[in-house]
Amino acid sequence: MVNGISHAFEDCFRRARIASIQAQSIHVPHFIEAIQCSFDNCILTKCNRMKRYIRHYKQCRLRRTGRCQACRNLIIIKCSHVLNCKEKQCSFPDCSELKQKIKKYLD
Ligand SMILES: [Zn+2]
Ligand SMILES: [Zn+2]
Ligand SMILES: [Zn+2]
Repeated sequence: MVNGISHAFEDCFRRARIASIQAQSIHVPHFIEAIQCSFDNCILTKCNRMKRYIRHYKQCRLRRTGRCQACRNLIIIKCSHVLNCKEKQCSFPDCSELKQKIKKYLD
């Protein structure tokens, strides 16, 4: 069954090397900042850019196909958090579900 987390994630894990996902982890703090930021027009450029990504991600029709580059980038950022996350009850979006998925690819 396809649920909230799409095939795009599976696809991302399958194709992307774990190392390249880890390289994206520098963007994770901006992602976290953006989801916690309540300003519509934040003075931080990176925060605004990330918010645009997140908004796009929620509406994108291509996301499930895995063909949208913007969505793939966001997925990789999420993956890189998950790879480094040791929290059992993490509040990061989709973290626990992604952890289950990512396990298969790390073994
Ligand atoms: Zn902000
Ligand atoms: Zn997209
Ligand atoms: Zn987490």
